[in-house]
Amino acid sequence: MKTKRILRAAVALLFAFGVLAADLTPLRLPPQTASAVTQADIDKLKKESNALSSKKSEVNKQLSALKKDKANTLKRKALLDQQIDLISAEIANTEQQIAQYETLIEQTEQELNETQAQEADQYELFCKRVRAMEERGTVSYWSVLFQASSFEELLGAMDFISEVMEADQRVIDDLRVLQAQIAEKQQTLETSLAEQQSAKEALAAKNNELRDQRTEATGLIKEMEENEADYKDVLAEIEAEEEKTQAEIVRLSKELAAQQGNTTVTYGGYIWPVTTSKRVTSPFGKRNTGISGASTNHRGIDIGGVYYSSTVYAAKAGTVIISSSNNVRGQYIVISHGSGNTTTYQHLSKRSVSVGTVVKQGQAIGVTGSSGVGSGPHLHFEITENGQLVDPLKYLTDYVKAWN
Ligand SMILES: [Zn+2]
Repeated sequence: MKTKRILRAAVALLFAFGVLAADLTPLRLPPQTASAVTQADIDKLKKESNALSSKKSEVNKQLSALKKDKANTLKRKALLDQQIDLISAEIANTEQQIAQYETLIEQTEQELNETQAQEADQYELFCKRVRAMEERGTVSYWSVLFQASSFEELLGAMDFISEVMEADQRVIDDLRVLQAQIAEKQQTLETSLAEQQSAKEALAAKNNELRDQRTEATGLIKEMEENEADYKDVLAEIEAEEEKTQAEIVRLSKELAAQQGNTTVTYGGYIWPVTTSKRVTSPFGKRNTGISGASTNHRGIDIGGVYYSSTVYAAKAGTVIISSSNNVRGQYIVISHGSGNTTTYQHLSKRSVSVGTVVKQGQAIGVTGSSGVGSGPHLHFEITENGQLVDPLKYLTDYVKAWN
């Protein structure tokens, strides 16, 4: 803020020197043969200006849309990246779980095999005992039981026999319990494995989907960045053309001065173009477009709080050289105050002067409004001195700062 003020003061000082220099050095006059300003010249200029402004208006709209789109896409991309990170962690976790389940299953299968072998051993031992008993002639019904083709069949048959040796019964019971436990354990583990595998598949599918979305978002961002470069080029082109238009305004102003035989010019001495407000909502100079590397030059100041009803006054005596309307500036007026010295008033709702009108300082020339591009009613006010746009706040120093 301080630096800005110092800069402004420095610019004002330099400018003061410029004015002195201009006073001491006779102005170079255009050749007397120079063609006089005609309505056709001004009409041509107006037409060019209109075309230029509608182009710029369109680009500005695209730029703000682009800015919003880009911000949304970046936000979306960041969220997608976050999601992908989470999903990837989830997948890694699931894969670990699956690996653990696979090891468990393997262990269980081994356990089951061992148990089955143990079971077989136990059966054989049991058979030996029974055969020994049979050989001794102590048990007769065992031979019936030995017609069973498997141990399981035998176990079933035994349910109806109560007179089995206690020790053998215990062994058989233990084997049955063990077998059931192992079967249940294996079933549980297999179910868990299936669940984990389908969870893993679902997560992998989701992950692929998200990766696709991320690729799409990245592509969109890339496209937008390319568009930005194009827009920047168009903006630069428009800026260059506006400079050209500015040069035309200056040329018109100089020719008019030459025509009127009025070759001396005194800069400064402007009054506020409105009396209802001194709130400046946007200052002169560089403005950010929201796109890195692309800034536009604010060619004047914006005066807010003027509504649609403030009378606009000529800031200085002069001759109207443009009274027209276009898409960006809306209804606007340019007054020449001498060679290379003009003031511009934009976004009016009404104009009460036309090209060629000679105006006094403080004379009403129109009414404020919001025609053209802008957010709500305000007066955009420009000053050109010595053919260059200058900061109006060098002169209108009692302003109220209302910008960020
Ligand atoms: Zn403005």
